[in-house]
Amino acid sequence: MPKLQVENITKHYLTRAEPIEVLRGVSLALDPGQNLAILGPSGSGKSTLLSILGTLEPPTSGRVLLDGIDPSELDERQLAAFRSQRIGFVFQDHYLLPQCSLLENVLLPAVPLGPVRAETIERAEMLLTRVGLMDRREHRPAELSGGEQQRAALARSLINAPDLLLADEPTGNLDHATAHQVGQLLLELQKTEPMILIIVTHSERLADCLQTRLELDAGRFQQAGAANG
Ligand code: ADP
Ligand code: MG
Repeated sequence: MPKLQVENITKHYLTRAEPIEVLRGVSLALDPGQNLAILGPSGSGKSTLLSILGTLEPPTSGRVLLDGIDPSELDERQLAAFRSQRIGFVFQDHYLLPQCSLLENVLLPAVPLGPVRAETIERAEMLLTRVGLMDRREHRPAELSGGEQQRAALARSLINAPDLLLADEPTGNLDHATAHQVGQLLLELQKTEPMILIIVTHSERLADCLQTRLELDAGRFQQAGAANG
């Protein structure tokens, strides 16, 4: 069985008018080392799909299996631990805490897993080195450029060595050159982190660098993804 198996997910939102059918049957299967770009117009359900893959929201029907585990079968406490240990998130906004140093920000997702150990701090420093910010580890986020802030967010997303990294328009707030650097850095990080990487993006240039691309349209994937290389 693939590490990530997504079986015929649908998602409907009930509203006071008609229910909105956002996802109408989405399936995919990915293993560590594989990456996928998801494209599609605004409102096509990309963020909804990532929320479901990230166990932040349940699907209306269908199921997600990560490492053979169906998160819908976990209780609230188990689910929080499952998410912390196995899933990393990067968003368009960096969501770094302004009052914390970069090192503290990178360590934050490790805090719910128990007392922060020396090896976790070493990993945070290794990740800060990988994203080129080790010399800025005591700085506050406001002292960094937008690209640097997003690089710190990448380091933070990897602190718990996730099986699955979900990035929702991670370069959407950056200028072209910086966006390209951050996109390439994500792919570079995957070379040494044995994870599945899924990136939602509007950037054709970034999507072209990934192994597979799928386009969401009217709640379904347009065509089967073909490997680019
Ligand atoms: P995308 O990320 O592709 O722009 P989204 O997944 O954010 O799209 O949204 C897809 C559709 O689902 C939109 O029409 C949006 O209004 C609707 N939607 C998203 N979240 C909710 C919600 N909590 N309640 C009702 N509708 C929602
Ligand atoms: Mg979105």
